[in-house]
Amino acid sequence: MNSLLEVRGLSVGYGKVEAVRTLDLRVGEGQIVSLIGPNGAGKTTLMAALIGLLPCSGEVFYQGEPLLPHHDVAHRVGLGMALVPESRELFAPMSVEDNLCLGAFSRYRRGDRDYSGTLEEVFALFPRLKERRQQAAGTLSGGERQMLAIGRALMGKPRLLMLDEPSLGLAPRIISEIFTIIEGLRQTGVSILLVEQNARAALRASDYGYVLEVGELVLQGPAAELAEDPKVIETYLGRRATTTPTPQPA
Ligand code: ATP
Repeated sequence: MNSLLEVRGLSVGYGKVEAVRTLDLRVGEGQIVSLIGPNGAGKTTLMAALIGLLPCSGEVFYQGEPLLPHHDVAHRVGLGMALVPESRELFAPMSVEDNLCLGAFSRYRRGDRDYSGTLEEVFALFPRLKERRQQAAGTLSGGERQMLAIGRALMGKPRLLMLDEPSLGLAPRIISEIFTIIEGLRQTGVSILLVEQNARAALRASDYGYVLEVGELVLQGPAAELAEDPKVIETYLGRRATTTPTPQPA
């Protein structure tokens, strides 16, 4: 399978502190790849560097071509990369529809005027956003806000969608709805790099997974195999229920 994104020996630091160290990672065309790890592991830092928000060392290839330090965020978005940050970054007073249209801005600037067709595609994926198209983004529920953030990224017709903790702060029922949507995005041909602390849901939705701890990859493999790895089970999925209950003091 062709690589859409290939990262070799990537390091990212904040001053003298290296938050990501010599990391190798790959996202194949059409794949969903998850990156799991605890707070502070460097997951957000990695995504920020990939989209061009932070300087880094090492090599990044996108569609087989190197991404270079002078390729800024606008350039990378123009190549089809999109980031949905943990903070969602919606324009709260603006309507759902206007937030979505802003997601097509860089396409519009390049002369692509077909955003109304893409808007209908996004509404087909998220009927709830269509129902609320005139509602102010700031009044949406947490799950709807996440749908809007993903929908806005899709308005740019990305080839690589990077999602930073899409399940953060959501109720379990909404998390499963969001992950069903993420899995459904496969059909649209977009490849996904998914950063999550909810390892169970992420690995279930993914083809391949990486585990990042304190800036370094400690494990990787096909997602189904990682989900069976004893270290992943113990650290990220919680211990399996034992068949013999622990005796409780009377
Ligand atoms: P979380 O799951 O909590 O979002 P994360 O895996 O995304 O964590 P990062 O936010 O990438 O982790 O942080 C990695 C390390 O870099 C942490 O030690 C953090 O304190 C540090 N860090 C992040 N942003 C900055 C910054 N602007 N300046 C200095 N250090 C930072």
